[in-house]
Amino acid sequence: MPPGSTQTDKPGTFQRTDRRPLALILTIALIAPVSLHAGDTPAPTPEPNRLRAVVETLASPEFAGRSGPGAEKAANYIVDRFRALELEGAFDGDYSQTIPGQEPGTRIGRNVAARLVGSDPKLRDQYVLVAAHFDHLGVRGGRLYPGADDNASAVAMMLEAARCLKTSPTPPKRSVLFIGFDLEEAGLFGSRYFVAHPPIPLDRIALFVTADMIGRSLAGLCGDHVFVMGTEHAPATRPWIESAAKGRPLTVDLLGADILVLNRSDYGPFRSRGIPFLFFTTGENPCYHTPRDVPETIDHPKMLQISRMIEQVVRSAVDAPEAPRWSDHPDNPLAEAVALRTVLRILHGHRDDLKIGVAQEFVIQSTLRLLDGIVERGAITPEERARVIQGARVVLFTVL
Ligand SMILES: [Zn+2]
Repeated sequence: MPPGSTQTDKPGTFQRTDRRPLALILTIALIAPVSLHAGDTPAPTPEPNRLRAVVETLASPEFAGRSGPGAEKAANYIVDRFRALELEGAFDGDYSQTIPGQEPGTRIGRNVAARLVGSDPKLRDQYVLVAAHFDHLGVRGGRLYPGADDNASAVAMMLEAARCLKTSPTPPKRSVLFIGFDLEEAGLFGSRYFVAHPPIPLDRIALFVTADMIGRSLAGLCGDHVFVMGTEHAPATRPWIESAAKGRPLTVDLLGADILVLNRSDYGPFRSRGIPFLFFTTGENPCYHTPRDVPETIDHPKMLQISRMIEQVVRSAVDAPEAPRWSDHPDNPLAEAVALRTVLRILHGHRDDLKIGVAQEFVIQSTLRLLDGIVERGAITPEERARVIQGARVVLFTVL
């Protein structure tokens, strides 16, 4: 999808929202003296200019594609933001966790994290983690890999979530850790090291939330779609997502993380340990892992909506009376089949642009036929799901 072409940019919508601010300012001005006491102060929400500024900063040449000295600079940048928010360091008061190299005395990078202590004495021992990896591919062959979508987009979301929760008039009940992981691109080194050396006991993690690439669309074709994985192991998170997505110009697709075969982002080490997790992504697109992953091609309105949705999900997670429970037996909803059918139809509709060959075409057609039957019947068997997943994987791996 071309940048900036989500529903929020449609001329009709624009005119309507355009008039609203003035009316709103007038209303606030009229009622403010009498009714704007603490309880009425609206909760802060991720702001477009702030998100954009983080993406533009981290993707700028000074950050060298956030590898080597660039990664160091990015870690410092995130720490400065934590400090400005007056959040405490998550590692015994320190903001940084050094990731040692194989040779004694060497280091290969560092994670950064801050803690916001919960307000409820009964719940504050439990933690919600909000994480994004800040590293990327660096400069290769003299070319800069800016990594605007991968993953400056989610770092911006994480920093905005930190600002919103910290400055909220109603502080979160559970505690929160905001984390910037290093060395994701090298093989999830940062998150793996964190889980092996956690600053809090792992059984106190109520929910791990991460996002990786939330600024574009799958194959550059899937418009307002955003994928959420992990609810299959923690179905209690679904109402939170549903309510956070309500009224937004987004199509939220719940998928099982097993569709990706391997752990493709920092949720992996948490998932392996049976910790409830949510992973948000808009998926791979033509700029993925290329020097073209620049801020100019980010769909900023979409990224804003996703950031606001995630912040709202986190809000639900920190205040919910019960923490979500991990289930070993994935509960894959029928909605997954519906979502996969929609996505496969979109990709199939662009088979010429995507240079889909005869063999892939056959896989898509037979998977779509299978999905039609499943959706019509309103039920899916484990065998059918296995076939659907296999078909979807073939398409995703060969097309993208
Ligand atoms: Zn990434």
